[in-house]
Amino acid sequence: MKNWRFIVKNIREMGLETKAVHAGIEENEAGAVVPPIYQTSTFKFENVQHGADLFSGKGDGYIYTRMRNPTVEAMENAIAVLEGGAHALGCGSGMAAIHTALASLLKTGDHVVCSESVYGPTSTLIRTVMANFGIENSMVDTSNLDAVRSAVRPSTRVIFVETPANPTLVISDLDGIAEIAHANDALLVVDNTFMGPVMQRPIEHGADIVVHSLTKSLNGHADVVGGVIVVKDAERYPHFRTTLNQIGGVIDPFNSFLVHRGLKTLPLRVRRAAENALPIAEYLEKHPKVQWVRYPGLPSHPQYEIGRKQMDGHGAMISFELAGGLEAGKTMMNNVHLFLLAVSLGGVESLIQHPASMTHATMGKELREQANITDGLVRLSVGIENLEDLMADLDAALDLC
Ligand SMILES: *Cc1c(COP(=O)(O)O)cnc(C)c1O
Repeated sequence: MKNWRFIVKNIREMGLETKAVHAGIEENEAGAVVPPIYQTSTFKFENVQHGADLFSGKGDGYIYTRMRNPTVEAMENAIAVLEGGAHALGCGSGMAAIHTALASLLKTGDHVVCSESVYGPTSTLIRTVMANFGIENSMVDTSNLDAVRSAVRPSTRVIFVETPANPTLVISDLDGIAEIAHANDALLVVDNTFMGPVMQRPIEHGADIVVHSLTKSLNGHADVVGGVIVVKDAERYPHFRTTLNQIGGVIDPFNSFLVHRGLKTLPLRVRRAAENALPIAEYLEKHPKVQWVRYPGLPSHPQYEIGRKQMDGHGAMISFELAGGLEAGKTMMNNVHLFLLAVSLGGVESLIQHPASMTHATMGKELREQANITDGLVRLSVGIENLEDLMADLDAALDLC
């Protein structure tokens, strides 16, 4: 039990669908196909020496759930396998994962280059909390390699990229940015929440660290808030684990169990959602009341070719703006029924939301405008419902706009 043993050997060499079902599943005494949930805060030592050995790192065993827990580890191992990293660290939310990753890599005086179009709280974290600790930042258009290159300073230690970006769906060239980062003694950290490991594995394109909000497609059922950090190199992992242990933003065993359960159907869910998203994006692009549409699967996407190079699919996120701007967008959002008016994304249910007043409100108008997050931008997260039903819902709402 204490040394990790996968039931399926050599899982890292198997296909993605097999990994999703079997990765992280451990042997257990009862032979349970689904491992038990270790809903415990602490673990009993055999004697004083045993406890001392575990604390000094001599023995291999569990001490306290903030430090390690078998159920959390099972989920972490599964995600490390799916993303192709050495190790993963489960966190209490996507934001906890991003904060812990940045806090592990940066100190006062360091500089971070970040995509200007990112999840709103990520931008705010870097520009306020991290800045308060003397960590400098440049928010740039990371789809432009020249802009990334000229933002890099001698003190740059991290380039943080979200691709496709939330909510503009701007795509950044991961191989190109990894090259810039590594030539400047910096690491590339990628928020892979939008695509997930089925459709994009940033480590294969030079990323050193991958972060995710587990809340989104990896769990996929809108019933967990969680995050994860995936570390490419085993040598870097202990430092991240220590930092997470000090900061304390860990995920709990039950949520880990739910995420692990969700992972098994991840390839099925995300591919089905993407199958729905493409015809919806095409429908919107042709609709006379729609001004513009951004979807990585549309050839009209400005970075369509870069997307094809680094992604195995196009995801289920669509952004668009109606010809009638914000007012028309509000009418649409207030009149859909199947698309739920809610933030979050990547779940089985389709969602619609308004970034300028919701997920990206904390960024402020000026930064939003700089990042092309217009007031009229409406964001869809397409789920796995029946396509005709989804289309009919959008169509009826657009009739009223
Ligand atoms: C939701 C989201 C986050 C934050 O995750 P939480 O689990 O809500 O903390 C970070 N990045 C992206 C791209 C997201 O969509």
